[in-house]
Amino acid sequence: MKNTIRLAAALLLGGASASAGAGAADWYASQDPFAVYGNTYYVGTRGISAVLITSPAGHILIDGGPSGASAQIAAHIRQLGFKVEDIRYILSGHEHFDHAGGIAALQKMSGAVVLASPASVEVLRTGQPDKRDAQYPGLQPMDPVANTRAVRDGEVVKLGPLAVTARFTPGHTPGATSWTWQSNEGGKTMHMVYADSINALAADGRSFSRNPLYPNARADIEHSISTVKGLDCDVLVSAHPEGSDLWERKAKQAELGDAAFVDHDACRKYAANARTRLEGVLAAEARP
Ligand SMILES: [Zn+2]
Repeated sequence: MKNTIRLAAALLLGGASASAGAGAADWYASQDPFAVYGNTYYVGTRGISAVLITSPAGHILIDGGPSGASAQIAAHIRQLGFKVEDIRYILSGHEHFDHAGGIAALQKMSGAVVLASPASVEVLRTGQPDKRDAQYPGLQPMDPVANTRAVRDGEVVKLGPLAVTARFTPGHTPGATSWTWQSNEGGKTMHMVYADSINALAADGRSFSRNPLYPNARADIEHSISTVKGLDCDVLVSAHPEGSDLWERKAKQAELGDAAFVDHDACRKYAANARTRLEGVLAAEARP
C-alpha cells in the first residue's frame, strides 16, 4: 500500500516537485491551519492544499485532500473556530484522488453542494478515474460524491458576501479548475487565487502530447498556463502548496503578518514553472 501510494505520488507530482521533497508521506503530514489573508484560511495537510473561505452566511471549502485526510481537514476547520456544518459549497480543483478523494466524506459531514467542471463532476459522481487522463494507469478510484453540480467556466459562486469565480484550467486533467475571489484585511483587498495543477504529466508508457484519448491536452495546458499568468493575483495558493512556495512564505508570517503571503508575481512564476515543465515533457516526448 505504502509503495503504491509513493509511486502514485511520484506520478502525480512529477519529478520537479518530488525532488523538492514533497511526497505521499506529506499528503497526510499534519499542518496546523492558519489564516492566509482576511477570511481565507489554509486547512489542508502539509502536502495537499485545502482552503476555507468564511462568511457569516456560511463557508466555501476548496478541495478535500486524499480520502484519508478528510478528518484532518475537518479538525483544522474546527480548530479555527468554524463549523464543518456551515460549509455550503465544496469546490473541486482537479479530479485526482490526492485532491478530491476526501470530498465525499467532507460533503457527508457538511451537507454541502459540490461544484466542479463537467469533466470533474463526472469523476466525482462515479468515483472512477477518467480514462482519457494521461495518468490513468496510476489513478485510484475514490468514494463517489453526492450532491454534485457542474459549473460553467467563468461562473461566479455566490454565498452571502462571498463570490468565487471558476476558471477552467484543463490540461493536467480534462476537468482541472482554478478558483479566484477577493479577501479583505485591514481595509486592503487582495485578489486571491487557488491555482490548480497546470503541470504536464503522463504515466509510464503514456504520452501527454500524443494522447489519442485527450488530443487537446497540449492546447488546453498552453491555454491554462496563459490563463493563470494573466490572472489578477496577489495571494496564490496552489493545489500542491510547495508549487507556489507556500511554506517559504509561511515562514515569514511571524515577521510580516499575513502580508507574507502577498506576492504580486506569484501567478506569473507559477505559470513560468509550468511552461518550463511542459517544454521539457514535449521535448522528451518528441524524441524517437
Ligand atoms: Zn493531479
